[in-house]
Amino acid sequence: MGITRRRFLTWVGAAAGSQVVVAGRSQAAGNRQFPGFAESFGVLHDVTRCIGCRRCEAACQQVNGLPEPERPFDDLSLLQQQRRTDAGTYTVVNRFEAAQGPVFVKTQCNHCLEPACASACFVKAFQKVPSGAVSYNVDVCVGCRYCMIACPFNIPTYEYDNPFSPSVQKCTLCQPRIEKGLLPGCVLACPKEALTFGQRGQLLQTARNRIAQHPGRYVHHIYGEHEMGGTSWLYISAAPFREIGMREDLGTMAAGQLTAGPLGAVPIVVGLWPVLLTGIWAIGKRKDKIAAGERRQAVAEAEKNARQAAEAKLAGLREQLGKEKEIAVKLAVKNALEEAARAAQAEALPGNGEPESKEEK
Ligand code: SF4
Ligand code: SF4
Repeated sequence: MGITRRRFLTWVGAAAGSQVVVAGRSQAAGNRQFPGFAESFGVLHDVTRCIGCRRCEAACQQVNGLPEPERPFDDLSLLQQQRRTDAGTYTVVNRFEAAQGPVFVKTQCNHCLEPACASACFVKAFQKVPSGAVSYNVDVCVGCRYCMIACPFNIPTYEYDNPFSPSVQKCTLCQPRIEKGLLPGCVLACPKEALTFGQRGQLLQTARNRIAQHPGRYVHHIYGEHEMGGTSWLYISAAPFREIGMREDLGTMAAGQLTAGPLGAVPIVVGLWPVLLTGIWAIGKRKDKIAAGERRQAVAEAEKNARQAAEAKLAGLREQLGKEKEIAVKLAVKNALEEAARAAQAEALPGNGEPESKEEK
């Protein structure tokens, strides 16, 4: 083991005491060259010791409360596939066929000293913290996923299945466990000591010693010592790293230096962000206001049209009623006149007047 528990807890206490100072430094770690916190932790993965048992994967799932995988961890046939991390899987072990035979390599966030994900994140959701972990703050994340594009190791993933509060997911270096003086879950579970936890400086020394003691067993390269400015996870291997799925084209320049030019605009972007959001809100409100005004106008117009239509119909009815009434009156008068004429004729007929005398008959 690279570190004693007592020294470890002393460091945790000291780190907690210097939280305020450190917070300022870690903020800055996002977008300029950063040499790493002096006593930060890391893990050395000795690939020659790994047997591909996947116990590290199972421990990771357990300590982080991640969902149960579809296939159990003792199903080693999965090693035939080239897998990558996802929202429910912070680490995977892949098998490679090298000249020496099968090689098993564990993959997870490398917790870079100057992380590309942090450089790309304009709200600073990612920060390199003194323990060595690259932490993620979901509360400030705006879900732009620039971190996923920026990471040269293809690590951060997004919870596409979570419709309500999706977030970026990746290995945390078991930061909560480290703060309690516990080892990362994967390191604790590894039965072959293929994973060694300790201060990064000591891990580098351990790696150099192993290579020096067994020069024929290892390639003379500690992966992560300088790649992308250095990472907190370090690797030693018998097979060349490019043959076991690890990029050797990254160079040694940290992401902060590579992106220093474009990211010079980051503070401006961060400063403009609230203004932008306020603008979007104001435009939304204005649209609402215009919509409400238009709605009111449309209702008033509809009311006016309805009123005019009703009045026109009423006028028509009145007119029709007037004509019908006139016709009715005329008809009544005509009937009355005809009735009167019939009555007059009947009156004028013989026998209709004084009764006839018997004498005249
Ligand atoms: S490996 Fe990727 S996600 Fe992890 S710290 Fe480095 S850039 Fe960020
Ligand atoms: S637990 Fe150790 S030996 Fe097993 S797969 Fe993980 S790193 Fe390799």
